[in-house]
Amino acid sequence: MRINERVVQLNDKAPNANARYVLYWMQMFKRTSYNHALIWAIRKANELKLPLVVYEGLKYYYPWASDRIHTFILEGVEEKRKEYERLGIRYIFYLQNYESSQKNTVAALAKDAALIVTDDFPCFIIPGHNRRVAERAEIPVHAVDSNGIIPMSKFDKEEYAAYTIRPKINRLLGNYLKPFTEDSVEKGSVALEVDSPETPVTSAAIGNLVSECDIDHSVKPSNIYHGGTANGRKRLKKFVEEILPDYDNARNKPDRDGSSRLSAYLHFGYLSPLEIALAVQDSDAPQGSKEAYLEELIVRRELSFNMTRHNENYDSLDALPPWVHKTMREHMDDERKYIYSLEQLEAGETHDELWNACQREMVVTGEMHNYVRMLWGKNVIAWSRSYEEAFETLVHLNNKYCVDGRDPNSYAGILWCFGKHDRPWMERPVFGTIRYMTSGSTGRKFDSKKYIEWTKTFRG
Ligand SMILES: Cc1cc2nc3c(=O)[nH]c(=O)nc-3n(C[C@H](O)[C@H](O)[C@H](O)COP(=O)(O)OP(=O)(O)OC[C@H]3O[C@@H](n4cnc5c(N)ncnc54)[C@H](O)[C@@H]3O)c2cc1C
Repeated sequence: MRINERVVQLNDKAPNANARYVLYWMQMFKRTSYNHALIWAIRKANELKLPLVVYEGLKYYYPWASDRIHTFILEGVEEKRKEYERLGIRYIFYLQNYESSQKNTVAALAKDAALIVTDDFPCFIIPGHNRRVAERAEIPVHAVDSNGIIPMSKFDKEEYAAYTIRPKINRLLGNYLKPFTEDSVEKGSVALEVDSPETPVTSAAIGNLVSECDIDHSVKPSNIYHGGTANGRKRLKKFVEEILPDYDNARNKPDRDGSSRLSAYLHFGYLSPLEIALAVQDSDAPQGSKEAYLEELIVRRELSFNMTRHNENYDSLDALPPWVHKTMREHMDDERKYIYSLEQLEAGETHDELWNACQREMVVTGEMHNYVRMLWGKNVIAWSRSYEEAFETLVHLNNKYCVDGRDPNSYAGILWCFGKHDRPWMERPVFGTIRYMTSGSTGRKFDSKKYIEWTKTFRG
């Protein structure tokens, strides 16, 4: 049942009349400001004259769980604890390390809650979490959308491409691209006793905590990207002051620090797109750069969220339009000049030096530059036995190594390499009418030697 443009009630249970608090289960919007879910939880708590409890859990068994992803999440915990304390809100963080760790923590907390408020994120494990909690809880569950600048509910079907969603976004943007009013709790809860295990996290303890978890220890934490809103804001400040003025020109130059590199902060909700967009809008950068950036942050990003919200096949080739299926059928048996196994690709052992450099950037740093991500994906299509195998490989590598992986942008970006949100181009072997890119021509558009050399300086 829809309550408003950002909030849906996922079940039809009645609130618990003997409740001690309202529970906000924070899954994806890991921040204390510009967070519509938190604001909604505060409002509900104030309406019910109850305190608010915020719960954040980290389990060991989500797909691709690794030292890299765990570290990035844990790096944001200490600052949130301090900030929630300042706001008078009880914040609980619990790390479920391995099989024998306590489970069902949300269910235990729900017993004393009037209602559960949680994050409405349209892909990966979150839709399943929300379905299950709504079925099992004896109280109302409200899912709140704080993903984009414009609520996802404003687009009631899947959009075909950027050109179809762009005019709709432009019509609505003025209503949403404006400063945010934060609410505060009327009843403080910092000292409230609750039935939940808790894990104290300090920056000094993160290495040990991660090493104790039953996760993939081969994917090391990033040396470049560190989690938390403060780190995201530090990068945002540098971006707006030093990089944005030349963004329109430099964003397609992987050999330069020319794009925002904020996608991991967006993925984990450390920064809200609204906070970023307002900082960009208010800056003195040239209008062309601001517009180019907002096109990526709003139109492209919200198109991805629209696809994962409305297309239940977002994690397979079934999400592609009919023209792509037709051309894939016609070219499925075309001879592939090179075929690489997942192991060869993962190790960056192909004949293509630029591709190997992209792969190295991702494996070692936890990100790949925006511009070469497209080339990276296209080449895996060229070098795989089938389109299906290429898709599986891309999803696996992207989600395993990228801090910003497992996101609507991950699935939309990979599907874009197969023609999603694009149009037919000239017919070629293997690709058919899917747009084609080569390392030779892409590499001539920037100083690819410099980029390749840069990736060789990485240790890891
Ligand atoms: C094969 C492939 C895989 C991708 N995987 C991911 C992923 O796992 N996670 C992810 O966030 N993005 C992914 N993208 C989209 C895009 O490449 C990244 O968002 C971008 O590289 C992030 O770098 P940045 O923050 O410096 O971008 P900027 O150029 O600074 O752009 C600003 C913001 O706009 C958004 N954005 C930029 N480009 C796109 C795009 N093409 N589609 C949707 N939103 C965009 C991002 O939120 C980004 O942070 C993928 C693209 C491709 C082609």
